[in-house]
Amino acid sequence: MTSDALAQTRLQAVLEHPGETLVGIDFDGTLAPIVADPEQAHADPRAVAALARLGNLLGTVAIVTGRPARTAVRLGGFRGVPGLGHLVVLGQYGVERWDAATDEFVIPPDPGQVAALEQEIPPLLDRLGQGAAHVEHKGRAVVVHTRQLPDPDASYAALSGPLNDLAERHEMVVEPGKNVLEIRSPGIDKGVALRAIVEETGARQVVFVGDDLGDLPAFRLVEQLRREGRGGLLVCSASHEEDALSVLADVVVEGPSGVATWLEQLADALETRRDAR
Ligand SMILES: [Mg+2]
Repeated sequence: MTSDALAQTRLQAVLEHPGETLVGIDFDGTLAPIVADPEQAHADPRAVAALARLGNLLGTVAIVTGRPARTAVRLGGFRGVPGLGHLVVLGQYGVERWDAATDEFVIPPDPGQVAALEQEIPPLLDRLGQGAAHVEHKGRAVVVHTRQLPDPDASYAALSGPLNDLAERHEMVVEPGKNVLEIRSPGIDKGVALRAIVEETGARQVVFVGDDLGDLPAFRLVEQLRREGRGGLLVCSASHEEDALSVLADVVVEGPSGVATWLEQLADALETRRDAR
């Protein structure tokens, strides 16, 4: 079968069994555009409206993000949206959780090493001539952003080695992203988070939509689920930087507005099928 035909077959399975389908979606670069100030990265309203329609049609919709759950819920505007009554937000790569049904957050205490990292990172950045890099404090993780620096890629390259060494000393790991280096506890990624929610819900099919290297473990998990006999469809919100995801994807769309359109088309197709019954 050609890759297009395969993608069509995988989509068809979702259309035929929506109640057994779990859709997992990344936040930044997928639901929300990448902007210079991460606090201003609001979800695309068209995407949220489409998710509200899908919430009534699909088994489960889960946002799977590296952001703290509270931040994703706020920037997504997910609270109290009709249709999103069963939305689940898995924050900090699944360590944190928010359930729309109860409006409850489950947030475990932060690992102790983060405070030490927060002390050591600013002087390290200064020594490397990268003191202008933005440091984001996520509680369970510390993130260094080079996007707003004059030469983001050169700064990223200069910081990568030293931050990896620092992380190792604290038994943490660096998760690389687009002009982003995130230091956090090992053994936590979107694949682990997605596996947990798939097992919890018993989903027979999994769609995952992502844009960045942080989504690669989720993409690989969907490939693994296929080998185990479940259905899987991978959608890549394309950014020219991330070929690693687009080569695995069944569908490649143009950034968050492309994702919003794809979600709208999925909702259209599912509603048409439902109404025809
Ligand atoms: Mg992303």
